[in-house]
This record gives sequence, structure tokens and C-alpha cells, in this order.
Amino acid sequence: MRYFFIEKSEHEDSILSITGPDARHIKTVLRMKPGDKIGLFDGKGFEYEAKIIDLSPGRVRVSLIRRFPSTAESPLKIIVAQAFLKEKKMDGLVRQLSELGIVKWIPFIAERSVPRPDKKQLLARTKRWEKIAKEALKQCRRGRIMEIGETVSFEEMLNLGQFCDLKVAFWEDELQPVRANLLESGEQIDTVFALIGPEGGFTQKEIEKAGDRGFITVGLGPRILRAETATVGACVLLQYLFGDMSQKKS
Ligand code: SAH
Repeated sequence: MRYFFIEKSEHEDSILSITGPDARHIKTVLRMKPGDKIGLFDGKGFEYEAKIIDLSPGRVRVSLIRRFPSTAESPLKIIVAQAFLKEKKMDGLVRQLSELGIVKWIPFIAERSVPRPDKKQLLARTKRWEKIAKEALKQCRRGRIMEIGETVSFEEMLNLGQFCDLKVAFWEDELQPVRANLLESGEQIDTVFALIGPEGGFTQKEIEKAGDRGFITVGLGPRILRAETATVGACVLLQYLFGDMSQKKS
């Protein structure tokens, strides 16, 4: 079934219009007809099965048949706190992390972060990241948009992880890898807060502060990865060990 993104609020009725490029695509490229079924997703955690009522240039009317929670969301909630990197790398990461099912991305200014955007620049970037996250959602058919957090200081960022089951700082000097039994208590891990440093790495002081706040340091093998590689690798690993990239929790 073909899937399309729709903006839908809770109170709308069961007949919806798809407009713009998607409508053109449905009519002229896919040549769909009244009665054909399509899938819709709303970026808020729901998918819909819908039937085409009629098609006109620029507008396809559909009636909703069924609504169900998105099947493409991981049971594991991963929040990534990302030390500010250069602009292009940040843009790329928003797309990749959306695809990897990350629920929230929080940029923070680390001691060694090179870019120091002012308020106005940050606002513009956050808007762009939100747009990228939405585009990525369409592509990967994910049920929920990755939330973009406000850019915060290192200290503020540490506070944001306080309610997560597992708090990990990815650190190249740590030999201990991420493994399934990371928590000694063996309790179930539903939420992970993961820290990735800037191009120049975390300072010793930052690592100590994170440790004081309950973060465990973990390594990603003996090679030093670029920050953006480390972020993607870390997320894949977390999703594999505790989320939906392995068969454990189907
Ligand atoms: N300080 C280093 C490189 C930092 S790499 C240097 O300049 O030589 C940037 C970030 O990627 C680090 O802060 C860390 O969060 C992550 N990272 C890179 N390689 C890693 C590894 N092998 N294990 C864990 N984290 C790693």
C-alpha cells in the first residue's frame, strides 16, 4: 500500500483532502482511482487506512477506514544529546536520526564545540531541523516526528536526562562497550539518554560531571570515530540491543 503524510488534528472528521504534490502524484503518476486504498500517517503516532472518494487536479478526497498506532515506532525511547557540530553535519544527523527512530534530539554547547550560534541563528536552524525531520518522516514512514529540543548548555543538558532508565556518555577513552546487561540491576530499559561529544571530544571535566549525574561512559570499539559517525553508530547499537533492530522485542 502507498503511504502519504497528512496533517491531522484529533477533531477532524473522517473525510480528508490530500492536496499539493502528493495529490498530483496520486492522480497523475500512480493513476489511482476512486475506491483504491491508501495508507496515511500523521506524524503524531497514528497510521490510517483510507479509501479514495474522488480525485481532481490538486486534490484527492479520501475517507478514513481505520486508525491504529504507528507500527514503525520503536518500543525504546532514545533521546540523543548532541554536542554542537558544524552546520552541515547537524543537518545530516537530523535526517539520519529520524530514520533511526530517535524520539528527541537535543543539541548542546560543549566546551570544545566550535560553532557558537547566536539566538537568531539558532532559531533559524531549529526551524530548518524541524523541516528536515518532517521530510525524513515521510521518507521512512515513521509514525512520529523526531522532536528537536532547544539548544542548551552542557549543564542544562545533563538535567534533561534525569528520568531516563539508562544514561550513557559515548567516550572514546572508555574500553567498556555497550552491552545488553549494562544495568547491573537487570531492570528493563525503556528510555535511553545518549551523549555524543563534539569534534574535539569531551573534556575530562565534562566526563566527570556526567559521571556525577549518573551517566555511564561507554566505548564504541578501539577506533576514534568522527562525531557524526559515532552518533549514528551509537543509535544503531542502542536500537539493536534494547529497541527494534533485533528480534527480541517484536
Ligand atoms: N577527542 C577525540 C575525538 C572525538 S570524537 C580527538 O580529537 O581525538 C567525537 C565524539 O564521538 C566523542 O566525543 C565521542 O562522543 C564519540 N566517539 C568517537 N569515537 C568513539 C569511540 N570509539 N567510542 C565512544 N565514543 C566515540
